Amino acid sequence: MRPDSALVHTPAPGVYLSTRGFESIVYGLAAALAALGSDDLQQLRTPPVIARDIIEKVGYHRSFPHLLGRVYAKTDTGLPAESDVVLLPAGCYCVYPLFAGVRLAVATELSIEATCFRQEAGAEVGRLRSFRMREFVRLDTAEHCLSWRDDRLSAAREWLAGLGLETESTVANDPFFGAGNRMMRALQRERELKIELLAEVGPGQVQAIGSGNYHTDQFGRLFAIAGPDGEVAHTACLAFGYERLALALLHRHGADPHRWPERIRKDLGLEATH
Ligand code: 5GP
Ligand code: ZN
Repeated sequence: MRPDSALVHTPAPGVYLSTRGFESIVYGLAAALAALGSDDLQQLRTPPVIARDIIEKVGYHRSFPHLLGRVYAKTDTGLPAESDVVLLPAGCYCVYPLFAGVRLAVATELSIEATCFRQEAGAEVGRLRSFRMREFVRLDTAEHCLSWRDDRLSAAREWLAGLGLETESTVANDPFFGAGNRMMRALQRERELKIELLAEVGPGQVQAIGSGNYHTDQFGRLFAIAGPDGEVAHTACLAFGYERLALALLHRHGADPHRWPERIRKDLGLEATH
């Protein structure tokens, strides 16, 4: 019998149903992650779609045409045509437009929980096409964005270590500057704009369970956001994938969460599931 804490395969590779046990872990992680932010942080939840205009404005469709999920719907003419929404690839794209044209009086941070889609080519353990993430997004000056990201990353590593997940922190490159642009990717590495926290999510399968990005003033420019110093706002985000975190815990502590260390069960509010 499949353990009640597993993900269940569907005919679409990288698309899973989750069992009640798996969802209990996700639920515990979601609550613990939300609590990592300060109490007064505004928390938002996304739908699985976002306005196509926004994704085109940030250039995601050019950088990652292979990952973007498009939506087609029947129109008045009876023919299917592309709709005005696309599947959301990451939570923070929903945040920047909220501040379009705004001059921020103070540094601003919020937290967003997102259902994301990326048309990944592989479907190894932990690589889901449809997955959920919690993101913390900061709009601030250049200097503060970087230190915020690094402080929050170390706090996250400590939290993960408390859950028994030792992570390796590594410099990566990614979405924000485009897969095709080799120079920008090299620059991103050199400037350490993206840092990933890696852990095993399955036997021999190491993946990012969290990541911290500093986007420089890219989104501030695109959305005409001014920071607290009056200059173009800089932004940073910290993201954690729920399914990857749950898989890493199952891999680390075993397939039966009832047998996990009591303290970890308590931290994730799993006691009630007995
Ligand atoms: P990023 O935007 O940095 O690529 O991803 C943010 C977080 O989402 C990652 O740290 C990871 O935890 C999660 N994530 C990214 N891609 C995938 C994926 O293909 N499958 C799953 N399950 N999670 C992902
Ligand atoms: Zn982000």
